[in-house]
Amino acid sequence: MELTAFREDICDCQECPLGSTRKNFVFGSGDPEAPVMFVGEAPGADEDEQGLPFVGRAGQLLTKIIESTKTWKREEVFIANVLKCRPPGNRTPLPEEVEKCLPYLQEQVRVIGPKLIMALGASAAQALLGTKESVGKLRGKWHDLNGIPLRVTYHPAALLRFDGYKKDVWEDMKVFTAKFVELTSR
Ligand code: URA
Repeated sequence: MELTAFREDICDCQECPLGSTRKNFVFGSGDPEAPVMFVGEAPGADEDEQGLPFVGRAGQLLTKIIESTKTWKREEVFIANVLKCRPPGNRTPLPEEVEKCLPYLQEQVRVIGPKLIMALGASAAQALLGTKESVGKLRGKWHDLNGIPLRVTYHPAALLRFDGYKKDVWEDMKVFTAKFVELTSR
């Protein structure tokens, strides 16, 4: 319930200019008590159209990646973005947009209380961890987000552009899933 109330609170947001160009506010979707969260950058055209995260080509790939673990169905995790509104032309979020919108994501993390978080791509990783390091530098190790173990991998859109990231993402998902099994089998 708390997550639904929070959504109601923020869904008419006009804190930044993207509020006037969006078609739909994209809060995020999935289980409000999800054990794991996947965080992307911002809605694209399809997401803006439907009001749902990761429903375009990159989203379909993300669904496959999640379900390839044989551990979660898409609807059993929670999927959100750093920005809730689409930047025009899918440009990279501006620092001032991230600054306004990040507290929403942080509150979602607090309410959902996942055991693990996967940051997809540089925007998500950098916003959540407060760093400017590249994905290449950030992946391959565990980070700590206020006590929640966080892993970084390549964004599925990057995977669509460069097949060579596939093996790395697969490795990252294996480690992520193994950690979840370890945490929940104690
Ligand atoms: N890319 C993202 O980062 N998020 C979406 O919801 C869709 C594409």
